[in-house]
Amino acid sequence: MATHRTKMLIIGSGPAGYSAAIYGARAMMEPIVVQGLQPGGQLTITTDVENYPGFRDVVQGPWLMDEMKSQAEHVGTRMMWDTIVEVDLANGSPFRAVGDSGDEYIGDVLVIATGAQAKWLGVPGEQELGGKGVSACATCDGFFYRGKKVAVIGGGNTAVEEALYLTNHSDDVTLIHRRDELRAERILQDRLFKSPKIKVLWNKTVERFEAGENGALAQLALRDTETGQDSTFACDGAFVAIGHAPSTELFEGKLEMDASGYLAVEPGTPKTAIPGVFAAGDVMDHTYRQAVTAAGTGCMAALDAERFLAGLEIDLDGHAHEAEAAE
Ligand SMILES: Cc1cc2nc3c(=O)[nH]c(=O)nc-3n(C[C@H](O)[C@H](O)[C@H](O)COP(=O)(O)OP(=O)(O)OC[C@H]3O[C@@H](n4cnc5c(N)ncnc54)[C@H](O)[C@@H]3O)c2cc1C
Repeated sequence: MATHRTKMLIIGSGPAGYSAAIYGARAMMEPIVVQGLQPGGQLTITTDVENYPGFRDVVQGPWLMDEMKSQAEHVGTRMMWDTIVEVDLANGSPFRAVGDSGDEYIGDVLVIATGAQAKWLGVPGEQELGGKGVSACATCDGFFYRGKKVAVIGGGNTAVEEALYLTNHSDDVTLIHRRDELRAERILQDRLFKSPKIKVLWNKTVERFEAGENGALAQLALRDTETGQDSTFACDGAFVAIGHAPSTELFEGKLEMDASGYLAVEPGTPKTAIPGVFAAGDVMDHTYRQAVTAAGTGCMAALDAERFLAGLEIDLDGHAHEAEAAE
């Protein structure tokens, strides 16, 4: 078991973590990125990415994340194959974290970029057809279904927002909900019911996602929750929109969160209530949830981390304390 000391400890290796690392390394903060169970983050489970700036042609999610990782390493980031299982934020900077390996990580600043995971239905065909008709992100993948028939599964705000967004690309959107009323806010429901492009199928659960001969999604197997009757619904794309779960269990009782578990930050910044602890990417953003916004807040975290460190003096034994305002 080893102890790894750095000025900048980053938990998470998605676009937010890698971007924080790129900026942090170039500012001589010698960042360590603890990568977690999904090195590269959520984009490693998708295929086509067409909206990350800088690439005229479609790029592949895993490739894009490999490039970000290489860039971060190239400028001096240390990557760790480990998952943080414990953090100690109570005593201020430096912050201590412990990995699954037993290794200890100590950072003068901490950037939390642990992301979020889309919630899935957990039914047959869902994972197998991911990227082949089944998606959890209309903003990301809606464009690929322009002019096609799509379904959205869910009944909360996320589902209604996704359905409304999809009307930019498709005139044939069906919302499939397991109850006979929606949980979404009234204003969203009004917009949904007013849209001539959206139909609603009530009281239906999706039992399976089924592929056609070409290996892509062809139809959904549905069950009526009232009659128990089975039916099928043919479509080209299906968007599972039953919410997201931010990866914040580690920080329960240690950092402020909203009702859904997203880390609370000072509005417009990545600053948490603990000086020197920053949150970037999907872990603090339930609104935009895009690779480019995650990268943007990762950059902001690194810039704010640099400013925080500039206001600290580091003792010879590695302990940071606030510099006296002598200037
Ligand atoms: C199927 C799919 C397709 C998508 N397509 C697009 C798209 O086309 N364009 C787009 O802009 N966005 C897309 N997105 C959204 C995009 O992937 C996310 O917005 C983005 O990845 C968020 O980045 P992040 O860095 O905040 O976190 P994430 O990418 O979620 O990464 C989180 C990181 O934290 C790590 N981690 C978690 N817990 C720990 C721990 N305890 N210790 C150490 N590490 C930990 C994980 O291993 C992971 O590396 C898509 C998402 C999905 C699911």
